[in-house]
Order: sequence, then structure tokens, then C-alpha cells
Amino acid sequence: MLKRSITIILLIITQISIAQNTRKCNTTFLVNQSITEDSRNLIAMEEIANKNNKWVDENRNKEKTVITVPIAVHIVHKNTHSNIGSGTNISNAQIEDAIRILNEDFSKTNPEFPNPPRNTFSNLAADVQIQFCLAATDENGNPTTGVTRTSTTKSTFDPDTEANDMKRNNTGGKDGWDPEEYLNIWVCNLAVSPSGGMTLGYSYLPGSVAWQMWKDGLVVDFQFFGTVGAASGGGNDGSTTTHEIGHYLGLMHTFCESADNNGNPICCDNDDNNWGGYVDDTPASKDIYWGSVNASTNNNTCNDLSYSNSFNTNVLDMDENFMAYSSDVWMFTHDQSAVMNGTMNGYRNSLKNSPASVNCSGAVGIDNVLDNNQIRIYPNPTKGKILIQNLTNFQSENIVVRNILGEIILTNQNTNSLLSLDLSLFENGVYFIEISTANGKRIEKIILTK
Ligand SMILES: [Zn+2]
Repeated sequence: MLKRSITIILLIITQISIAQNTRKCNTTFLVNQSITEDSRNLIAMEEIANKNNKWVDENRNKEKTVITVPIAVHIVHKNTHSNIGSGTNISNAQIEDAIRILNEDFSKTNPEFPNPPRNTFSNLAADVQIQFCLAATDENGNPTTGVTRTSTTKSTFDPDTEANDMKRNNTGGKDGWDPEEYLNIWVCNLAVSPSGGMTLGYSYLPGSVAWQMWKDGLVVDFQFFGTVGAASGGGNDGSTTTHEIGHYLGLMHTFCESADNNGNPICCDNDDNNWGGYVDDTPASKDIYWGSVNASTNNNTCNDLSYSNSFNTNVLDMDENFMAYSSDVWMFTHDQSAVMNGTMNGYRNSLKNSPASVNCSGAVGIDNVLDNNQIRIYPNPTKGKILIQNLTNFQSENIVVRNILGEIILTNQNTNSLLSLDLSLFENGVYFIEISTANGKRIEKIILTK
């Protein structure tokens, strides 16, 4: 009996230490950091929030149509994971799974409905009517799968000190696409923080990087993007992406993130303020609930009658909200939906009206353009010798060289990782090297100057 008590005590201690160390989502920390770095971000954020609140007031009860958001998924993977589906270079099936979950969550068609594990707040659950589709055209109007894959030497990215390194080519990541036209989602390996906590993802609130727009978008750890492949480990309900897009569209956490002078959690209605979008239909709650939610979950940490929200009785905490930290969550509320739709019609209006074509089939298409991460062609300009380096081990490549008139002057079939072509017998000028593989095609303009 004594032994059992000790075990229970140890379990409780472990849970408390996890609660203290784990920052499931790094958004609040990073938004505060971006405001400290450039105070203009705070001004932008507040202006946007005020406009948004006005839109919400005027349009809350109006009929709305489904808004489509083009997304670009940037897989930043360890260079040793060169094969798609290995380690951090997650499979297309995992990307498709993540997008499926996201669209279910935003349309209230997730498996928890119509009969959620508890129905305490069922009448407040909203169909947000925003859908996310892979971009089918890139910034230059060229066809794309909406998925990029970038090899990096970095094993992990520290979410505190390297929080945006995956967003730049020159810091071991991948430049995002125009954030006015695409929602950029970077998927990479986020480091376990020095304090031992695990960050699953983060994003920026609207305007919080208005003066550093290249940071805009979200980052999700590769083990928490979707629920299959690298994300099939335990403790992952696949909702991290949903939660981060909630922030990206203007929502705060539903739990109070403030403490008293002694560092003890206090009660507040965290998302019922300027930054939070005045979300009235999520109750005030104190501290973070990490557990699962079921019919018998009955946390009630704050007295709702002390807060100006839409509740006229003291209700339970809404632990099933996507913006909570519970281990299983399933709903956004009507007010949260109004805030997100306000953002799409306000600050992120250019995304709603993006010129990008989209692929809403839910399937990642076939890439027909090979990029520099797959095949390297050099030097260019050349004195005659051209090297073609196959970086991802295609089975074979058909290589055709054409002159400026489109006439074929040379062909080759390569099964090696490195091929040398000799153009030194041809006249100086412009040539086109066309490389075709099972994975796609690439045409490169080459200048010959002997
Ligand atoms: Zn969060």
C-alpha cells in the first residue's frame, strides 16, 4: 500500500514538472518577442485587432460563404533524410493526412461530431467555413504541388533562439512564398528546449510581424503534422496545425496565461480582450489543463459570473476547445469563428483574394518541375564542360540539349549520380538542357562562352 502511494506521488510530481516545462505552443512567447524587437508590430497588431472587432460586430450574424486559403507546405528536412518518407522528410501521405484533419476541424466534420465525448458546449461549436487547399500555382504562376522540400544540415531548430531559421534559405531553411498570397506552413524538427519542454508548433498573430512579414505563417514539428507516418507516435491528436492557424487568424489561448506576483496562475478571460478578438463564448479559466476530455471531465477553475461574457451561470472550463492545451480537443466556438472570418475579410483579405490557383482534392499532385535541391547543373556560364549532379538518386534521366532554335544537338541517358556533358564543340551562345525523370522535368538555360 505504501509502495502504491509513493508511485502515485511520483506520478503527480512528474505531471507537475511536465506542466511547468512544456510549452506546447510557442506563439505567445514569440509574439511578445517580436513586439519587443520592433514596437511598430504592436501598433499594427492593435490597429488590426480594432478593425477586426468592428467587422465582427457588424457581420457576426450574417450568412457567410466558404473562404479558400491557398497553402504552401515547406518541408525542411535533415540532409541525411534524402528519400521522401524517411525521418523529417515526411511523406505526401502524411501531408495529405494533416490537410484532411485541418479541413475537418474547420468545417465541424471532425470525427467527434455529431456526438462529441461530452456535449457541455455542443451548442456553441461552429463550422468556421474556411478551407485550406494546396497551392497549384507558385508566385510566378508556374504549376506546383504546393509542397517544397529543402535539405538542411541542421538536425533541429530551437523554437526560442532559431524560431525563424527554417524560414530563410540562408539560415538552413526555405524562403516562404509571398505571405499576402499564401499561408506558409514550415514543417521541420523543432528542438526540445533547454528546460526540457517540447514545442509542437507556433505561429504569429495578425500584424505581430507586420514589419517582418517573411516570418508570417506557421511552424509545425514534423511529428505533430497529421497523425500518420512520422506523426503516428502516441499523444498526438493531429490538431496542432488547427491550433496554430487559430492564432494566425487572430485567436488567443482560451486559458489564462497570467500569474500573480508569486508566479501562481490566476483567473482571466484570456481571449476576451483586444488581442484576443473579444471572444465572449469561451469561459474564463485558470492555468493549463493537459489531460483528456470526456463525459466526466468537470474542471471549473474560475467563476464565470465575475467576467463579462455570454454566460449567465458558472460553467465548466472549455477544455475541448482547439485553443486549449488538452490532449484531445474538437471545437471552435461561434465567436472564435467570427474573429477568424473577420481576419480573412480584413487583415488577411489578400489571401482570400489570392491569384494562386488551388488544388482542393486533398491529394498532393505530381511535381513536374525539378528544383535545385534535386538536380544541380553547373557551371553556368560554361567554357564547354557541364556537370549534372543528381542529388536524390532518380532511377534514370533522359537528357536532351537544344540550341536556341530548338534543334536537338546532344542526347544522353544517365544512370549515375554525376554526369559530365561536353559542349565545347558547339558555337558560343545559349543552349537549353532538358532533364526528364520519373519525378518530373527541368529545363535549364545554359550560356556557352569559350
Ligand atoms: Zn497556442
